Amino acid sequence: MSAVWTEREEATGAAGAMKIERETHKLEKRLCREVGRAIVDYNMIEEGDKVMVCVSGGKDSYALLDILLKLRARAPIHFDIVAVNLDQKQPGFPEDVLPGYLKALGVPFHIEEQDTYSIVKRVIPEGKTTCGLCSRLRRGILYRVADELGATKVALGHHRDDMLQTFFLNMFFAAKLKSMPPKLASDDGRHIVIRPLAYVAEKDLIRWAQHREFPIIPCTLCGSQENLQRKQVGEMLREWERKHPGRIENMFGALQSIVPSHLLDGSAFDFKGLKATGLPDADGDKAFDPTDFPAAAAPSALRVVQL
Ligand code: SF4
Repeated sequence: MSAVWTEREEATGAAGAMKIERETHKLEKRLCREVGRAIVDYNMIEEGDKVMVCVSGGKDSYALLDILLKLRARAPIHFDIVAVNLDQKQPGFPEDVLPGYLKALGVPFHIEEQDTYSIVKRVIPEGKTTCGLCSRLRRGILYRVADELGATKVALGHHRDDMLQTFFLNMFFAAKLKSMPPKLASDDGRHIVIRPLAYVAEKDLIRWAQHREFPIIPCTLCGSQENLQRKQVGEMLREWERKHPGRIENMFGALQSIVPSHLLDGSAFDFKGLKATGLPDADGDKAFDPTDFPAAAAPSALRVVQL
């Protein structure tokens, strides 16, 4: 096990080791708590479910599988887990890594081999982004595998920061107030997709991956460029997190607390049919009064240092 993190001072000696152990324990508890909370809040996993966990070889999906296995061991309900990896035949994909890891973990697994890489390379002109077609092909294959395995839920490793990024991407580039849902029915109407890491911060997943020493498979094997817009939005959010502690949590809280009557979407709130009720409402809109907001917190002087 490697050191996970320390704050400000480097942890050294026995006291340092104890501190690291304490922090790691706290991190594990937090991850289990947040994943458990999301599962309960959105009723993601039910008695008798067979959850197909999509494992790509990235830190998020390794952590998802890891935490779900921990939670299953103490869950009040019975559910099965099967890990699935789609080997897309990208050049240099280390095909022994995941089977070796999953075998050692003792979890049932299936590796689906489908050469989507060649299809994408053939169809998409050189220099154009390949992720759209690649993701569509992957989705179709994974849904078929879920059917074949009898999986009742398909679990993906997207986390809180992915959801926030998607929210801003939709707002900036698609003029939509829309994020990534924690639970959804698939577009073919046949599957329920869940995102149990919905409440988990990416920085916690980075630390957990370091601690657990997951055999990470780089996601750049296909040679595709990282989506520039997503990268920019990610940087914007990280900058806000550095400069304005609490802002990320507030934004995420906002996604769970929407007020359609105070937005402008006539399909989400019946503005046309709105009538005065004649009854006073203490929580009703004050209309003319400006809203008071709590003072912004000062930028944090404390930086988390990765070991
Ligand atoms: S980065 Fe490569 S593997 Fe990932 S979605 Fe894009 S094309 Fe597919």
